[in-house]
Amino acid sequence: MRTVEHFIGGNAAGGGSRQHDIWDPNIGEVQAKVSLGSRDELQKAVDAALAAQPAWAATNPQKRARIMFNYKALVESNMDELAALLSSEHGKVIADARGDVQRGLDVIEFACGIPHALKGEFTQGAGPGIDVYSMRQPLGIVAGITPFNFPAMIPMWMFGVAIACGNAFILKPSERDPSVPVRLAELMKESGLPDGILQVVHGDKQMVDAILDHDDIKAVSFVGSSDIAHYVYQRGTENGKRVQAMGGAKNHGIVMPDADLDQVVNDLAGAAFGSAGERCMALPVVVPVGTETADRLREKLIPAIDALRVGVSTDGEAHYGPVVTAEHKAKVEQWIQTGVDEGAELVLDGRGFKLQGHEKGFFIGPSLFDHVKPGMESYREEIFGPVLQMVRADNFEEALSLASNHQYGNGVAIFTRNGHAAREFASRVEVGMVGINVPIPVPVAYHSFGGWKRSAFGDTNQHGMEGVKFWTKVKTVTQRWPDGGGDGSNAFVIPTMG
Ligand code: NAD
Repeated sequence: MRTVEHFIGGNAAGGGSRQHDIWDPNIGEVQAKVSLGSRDELQKAVDAALAAQPAWAATNPQKRARIMFNYKALVESNMDELAALLSSEHGKVIADARGDVQRGLDVIEFACGIPHALKGEFTQGAGPGIDVYSMRQPLGIVAGITPFNFPAMIPMWMFGVAIACGNAFILKPSERDPSVPVRLAELMKESGLPDGILQVVHGDKQMVDAILDHDDIKAVSFVGSSDIAHYVYQRGTENGKRVQAMGGAKNHGIVMPDADLDQVVNDLAGAAFGSAGERCMALPVVVPVGTETADRLREKLIPAIDALRVGVSTDGEAHYGPVVTAEHKAKVEQWIQTGVDEGAELVLDGRGFKLQGHEKGFFIGPSLFDHVKPGMESYREEIFGPVLQMVRADNFEEALSLASNHQYGNGVAIFTRNGHAAREFASRVEVGMVGINVPIPVPVAYHSFGGWKRSAFGDTNQHGMEGVKFWTKVKTVTQRWPDGGGDGSNAFVIPTMG
């Protein structure tokens, strides 16, 4: 059986006494193993990074950008292979897997412009004969810890910008679908990146703790579930690191009475059930405003959801494939039961779904709940599966407060033809990313990605200029070049430039 190894110093490296199963969720069988490393493997990666990073930081930004250009072309020419590999471990359909790679590549395109993004500020004549300028310098060795649900995009969010800024980056991907992250690192080497600048170490909590405790790692970016994000943020910052930690989500779609309901149903079906609901920007909660809107929406939603095709991830006609593991499938089905026990109306029940010929695959049919109430646990917590919950609101204010008061604040969408309502909503809602008639408002790569409340700990977002800020530190220089005649300056009094 294939074993996925670490990628250290530009080469595949064994190591770690434990292994983790990598499943093929389409057939419900183990297809490979991944080595789980610990402090020893991490130390090897840190040593390689320490050796390589100073020269990389001293390489001029234009040359670093040229490697990003090479990389973009190389990933594009390997797109089919990457998408197939990703789909086989994650279970998302091939077209969606290509999107996963492409949204990461968008960040690589942004990183191609790093010479411009790294330009500092300059003030000539800030005082008599004094100029002030600032520069952004890399942090040194940095790390990223990523979730299973976007095994291409999220690593590239992080390493695209971090590496272009002159850092050495150590990636600890999800142990559930680690093959694509390793391929991405191999392709970086082929693009001309020096060994030791992008490395991959595999593992679970042990490896995460080793990263968080390592003195030579200066910053950690994390994306995953909220409790672990909080833990990573606390332990990492306690150890003096810069940490950004993105967590879970429960995104609401507000449907105003004037919305185009056919469009809404089409958008909701894709945003709630695409990738089997395993997206942090999925739209698993719909909030119709007013009983009439709710009833009309429900009537249109039922046949649209019934018509969804669940299939193997290589089925070009399937809307979505299996969830990632049997354990995750059981968890989602348990949440459906909790919703029923709490008194929500289960309109469509996706449990017990069997795909003919793939009875052992981790498939779940689509589920729809109506009359979900804010007090329910199944509403408060993230389900992360193909389950859409309808929470009815009487008016705009109630809908706004539902999204604003939820513990998560990753994304939200409003569907309306009323510009005033949309503008009011966008300015008042307590959520980090807002869609106006856009169901999945993932910002483009040159803007930045980040939620609020328990969806993100730390204060800088992923990619865009926020990413450049996270992966660099600012140095500010105040200089004068006296002509030798003495300028009467006196440092006994704090300089006031007056
Ligand atoms: P997860 O929290 O289980 O795992 C994320 C990472 O943490 C993995 O690399 C994993 O190995 C590691 N990890 C797991 N258990 C750990 C522990 N006890 N201590 C330390 N590290 C540990 O998340 P997941 O199931 O892989 O991904 C799904 C979650 O990620 C969902 O909650 C989803 O909303 C969230 N997510 C958030 C965003 C965002 O940008 N906010 C994006 C994608 C996914």
